[in-house]
Amino acid sequence: MPDQNTAQLRLQISGLEEKNGNLTDALIRARKQIIDLQAEVDMINRPPSTIGVLVSAHPLTLEVEVLIGSRRMRLPVAPDLDFTALSPGSLLRIDERQTVAQSLGFPREGTLATVLEVLGNDRVLAASNNGADHILHLAGPLRHGTLRAGDNIMCDPRAGFAYERIVRTDVEDLLTPEVPDVPYSAIGGLDEQIAQVRDAIELPFTHPELFRRYDLRPPRGILLYGPPGSGKTLIAKAVATALSAEHSQKTYFISIKGPELLNKFVGETERHIRAIFTRARALASSDVPVVIFFDEMEALFRTRGTGISSDVETMIVPQLLAEMDGLEAMENVVVIGASNRPDMIDPAVLRPGRLDVRIRIDRPNRRQAHDIFTKYLTPDLPISPELIAVEGSAEAAVELLIERALDRLYVRDSASALFEIRLTNGQFDILYPSDLVSGAMIAGIVERAKKAAIKDSLATGESGLTTAHVLKGVEEEMRESLELASTTTPEEWARTVGLRGGEVANITPIQHD
Ligand code: ADP
Repeated sequence: MPDQNTAQLRLQISGLEEKNGNLTDALIRARKQIIDLQAEVDMINRPPSTIGVLVSAHPLTLEVEVLIGSRRMRLPVAPDLDFTALSPGSLLRIDERQTVAQSLGFPREGTLATVLEVLGNDRVLAASNNGADHILHLAGPLRHGTLRAGDNIMCDPRAGFAYERIVRTDVEDLLTPEVPDVPYSAIGGLDEQIAQVRDAIELPFTHPELFRRYDLRPPRGILLYGPPGSGKTLIAKAVATALSAEHSQKTYFISIKGPELLNKFVGETERHIRAIFTRARALASSDVPVVIFFDEMEALFRTRGTGISSDVETMIVPQLLAEMDGLEAMENVVVIGASNRPDMIDPAVLRPGRLDVRIRIDRPNRRQAHDIFTKYLTPDLPISPELIAVEGSAEAAVELLIERALDRLYVRDSASALFEIRLTNGQFDILYPSDLVSGAMIAGIVERAKKAAIKDSLATGESGLTTAHVLKGVEEEMRESLELASTTTPEEWARTVGLRGGEVANITPIQHD
């Protein structure tokens, strides 16, 4: 019997053991649930953390200076936080006990600003979009000494930190200087204008002391005006080339197209003007001459009060004036403006000490056109051997080719009349091919003639430029100019042909049977 009792008791025990095990499991689960719930309750009840910006760290006291909103506070750091990993400018989470609990790294968003000047290796002077200047500390990632004046940065002006260099390819392109190589000798027909430019710019550049002694303000720049394709850009580049020869080092040439700057950076133009001058000053400070070239200047610096664009009138012109006046002490920076419509440029831009030397660059007359042709059509090119035989020399053959082209371009008879033009003041005028001629057109004629000669020599084996090639070039260039002309508005026409004394009312092509 006792055996039976024992067996029963064993059974009971194992039953109880199983129950006990189940209960233990249930208890463990419940405990875990309670812990989870507790954590959730803690989370819900936790006071919100504050976020601040680390201004400076003080390892001796294990404290940091933090900017919270506009308040600066000194706070202890939680013992489990790696003090040495804290970097000025980074964001910090501050818990309810006013202890720094966590480092959140650097912010990834902020205000865009332009560096005006690098101050030592940990600070910069920068201008933000609204025109305010700030002195900013460089946060960790920027302390490599690679920032330059004119760079864009992302910053938090309130906290006083610059965080990142922002590379905007469009702006970088705009500010990337070229080192041009155009000698004055490559420019045709503009000797007089070149002499004026050299007087205005090179003299004060090479002899600033004389200007000072005679109490003369050297001009900060010049304005070249006249129809498109007449060599304004070429002259500006030649100025830069000449200055580099005089300084026996490179000269930087920063070229800005008015409408491009205006359209690409709507609302930001004035900041970019500032950036342009800042970059120029930075380049020039190492005694390197810098030429800033504003092409189609009237688009940017329009007379104020014309109501065309309030942005242009109210912000951009004053910005340019301030920058130009600020160049006073910088003898190495020259501003060259180019325009087809100088009448539209704000007169303040053209006052003494600014762009006070104005040089007119017109369409070439026959003599000037001849000179331009000689820059492109030279006796060392392959010239038709028959033509050389007839004319006696390569020089004489080239001379004949040029004269033939000029005969066609400068003819003024009824058969070659192109357009009848009526001005708003009632006057009539007839336009001939010579009213469309420009240096660019002549360069184009010679290029087309050369291509035609190459094609012929491939097709027939006969080499060398002929009169037919050159005249073909003339016809093609003229056709192109006419096509262009037929799609332009009367206003643009006035600009292209350089009419004065009245606005163009309409233009009628003259039909020849
Ligand atoms: P602009 O600035 O007046 O519109 P550019 O100086 O850009 O004109 O001229 C365009 C091109 O035409 C030049 O690159 C050059 O090839 C040619 N060209 C224009 N004017 C002349 C000139 N006077 N002598 C030689 N080439 C010229």
